[in-house]
Amino acid sequence: MSPRYSFTADEINEAIEILERAVVNHRSWYEMLLEGLVCQQPFNEQIIDPMAHTKCGFGCWYYQSVSEALRAAPEFSVLESIHKEMHDAARDLVLQYQKNEQVSLQDFRTLNSTKAEVVELLSRMRDSIVAQHHSFDGLTGLINRRSIGLILEKNHAQSIRSNAPYALAMIDIDFFKSINDNYGHLAGDEVLKAVSRFLTKSLREADSVGRYGGEEFLLLLPDTDARVAQQVLERLRQGIAELMVPYDDELISLTASIGYASFDSGNAVWELVKDADQALYQAKKNGRNRVVAFRF
Ligand code: GH3
Ligand code: MG
Ligand code: MG
Repeated sequence: MSPRYSFTADEINEAIEILERAVVNHRSWYEMLLEGLVCQQPFNEQIIDPMAHTKCGFGCWYYQSVSEALRAAPEFSVLESIHKEMHDAARDLVLQYQKNEQVSLQDFRTLNSTKAEVVELLSRMRDSIVAQHHSFDGLTGLINRRSIGLILEKNHAQSIRSNAPYALAMIDIDFFKSINDNYGHLAGDEVLKAVSRFLTKSLREADSVGRYGGEEFLLLLPDTDARVAQQVLERLRQGIAELMVPYDDELISLTASIGYASFDSGNAVWELVKDADQALYQAKKNGRNRVVAFRF
């Protein structure tokens, strides 16, 4: 997958709005600049401000109110430097024009290309944030059902090629409905977030976990045979049972049941998902809070 954004839904919505507005605003900013140069219209003072890049709508947001998480994204620092370059080029051009009543072709071309680059970067970032937004679950920040499905299919094809084992597990929180009933839906949401954080931090870099449904998670353990999968999943089950999720003045405890299936090159990946689901059903039937392997 492309680089992962771990931003909140609010941060994402704000960034999308700012990026879209920045495209439109920089287009009109550029048109005003051209009107000044071509039709001798008075220039907006802001164009020659040495800190112009911090004063346009995008600049104000970026330098004053953007969240730390967004500012730290590498794409944003590239955009930041090109955006500053563009405002610097525009200022140099206007100062040159005001002094000589003309501008050099080279400087005009530099401005044009940095402006095109800024607009292109803004649009691309917007598209990529929107695409990421559709890949993640808004509540837990995990990848969603569609995305984990794509990862499963890709991994399955790779495992067939390299004949590598892998395991696929379905994790379902036990009696989750009672958690909602006893503590309220918002408490249930906190539990889902806590379990998601726990799963994310417990897994290896190569593993993937997605929110498959309400309180159901799908886990992919590449290059893992059944014996190791059993150990890993047992550790996860134990970790979940030890979680104490704070909500209001309470600490909520919970357990989860886990069913898993191991790679079999003769089966389609979605057959394996069904097998894991069937093993999960067995885990529930056998008393919950346990790990069960699918057996033919
Ligand atoms: P079992 O041990 O058999 O899995 O029982 P369960 O209560 O966990 O399972 P059941 O399928 O009966 O209930 C799942 C509940 O999860 C029902 C649904 O309202 C709740 N749920 C689904 N999505 C969310 C969510 O996003 N937030 C909260 N708080 N609850 C959710
Ligand atoms: Mg459940
Ligand atoms: Mg369920």
